Amino acid sequence: MQDISNEGAAARLTIDLRALCANYRTIARHVAPARAAAVVKADAYGLGAARVAPALAAEGCRDFFVAHLSEAAALRPLLPADARLFILNGLLPGGESACAALGAIPVLNGLEQVRAWVACGKALGRRLPAVLQVDSGMSRLGLAPEDIDTLLAEIDMARDLDLQLVMSHLACGDEPENGANPDQLARFEALTARLPPVPRSLANSGGCFLTPGFHFDLVRPGIALYGAAPHPGHPSPIQPVVRLEARIIQVRTIPAGQGVGYGLTYAPDKPARIATIGVGYADGWPRHLSNKGAAWFGDTRLPIAGRVSMDSMTLDVSALSDGTLHYGDMVELIGPHQPLEVVAADAGTIPYEILTSLGRRYARVWITE
Ligand SMILES: *Cc1c(COP(=O)(O)O)cnc(C)c1O
Repeated sequence: MQDISNEGAAARLTIDLRALCANYRTIARHVAPARAAAVVKADAYGLGAARVAPALAAEGCRDFFVAHLSEAAALRPLLPADARLFILNGLLPGGESACAALGAIPVLNGLEQVRAWVACGKALGRRLPAVLQVDSGMSRLGLAPEDIDTLLAEIDMARDLDLQLVMSHLACGDEPENGANPDQLARFEALTARLPPVPRSLANSGGCFLTPGFHFDLVRPGIALYGAAPHPGHPSPIQPVVRLEARIIQVRTIPAGQGVGYGLTYAPDKPARIATIGVGYADGWPRHLSNKGAAWFGDTRLPIAGRVSMDSMTLDVSALSDGTLHYGDMVELIGPHQPLEVVAADAGTIPYEILTSLGRRYARVWITE
């Protein structure tokens, strides 16, 4: 049995900052001479941006992407003065002066955002730093091709903005064979040719491991830093970062036919041993894993038995002989036997959603050396 640093916690989330930094170095080496930024939105995909971003800054990263102004404000004091903080969602009405005061750089995604930012700069009497996003085919954020005509007619790009980067985003960067990737690349080349010659950025994690033509000047990896394969199902140089373990609260033997959990949806036709752990959907463990998925004790797979509750779930531990598993023992939920990708697949989702849902009740342990 292992100790748990946060006394009495039901589960331990171990975040390996060394592996995270190694992933950053792997990506940075792979894309050089392009620069590697880090996407730390959504609290660094649930891992904790306040620890993750400074660790990456110590590796030399100077470009950080968040989604919201509030995320940029929280990170600003934790980063070196020469680090740039980019806001992917750009500006929302009323946020302009706070963004300018913070020195954060909005990704301007539409003409309204460009106009508001230029007006804010004029009011402040200076050119404000900006990123321009163009839509190269994902139809989510960014200027449409026809918006670029309006933009160039309306705005003096050199006088009105300090344009630091032009970017776009890949819809299928995680699928190396997908024909949408070369299509988006060609559209990005054509759209940026109409704009001032500033540094360009197209690649997310998946894009970092497409051909070098996708790298441009700056890449924007997120999920690969946090340990998931950039191209699911393909060999990957990325190391796992997260491990999740939970303690056994109780073990019981039930007679044949007795139901387990809400709705009594698990009722084995022979006697079974059931163990309860203190992790549930309020901790971000998907309720879709009811009667699906598993935990591991050593090399033994322990299927989830019955519905996942808010604060607990039950495992069928009959595969272990009686007396093997004790009150307080640790089982693995995410780790070497059950990688993040497997948990996500069992739940019918993706590693991003599992990570960004990780609960606040876990004892968090950081491996730093
Ligand atoms: C989230 C995001 C990224 C990072 O994507 P990953 O697939 O996690 O590497 C990059 N760029 C934009 C615009 C994003 O929204």
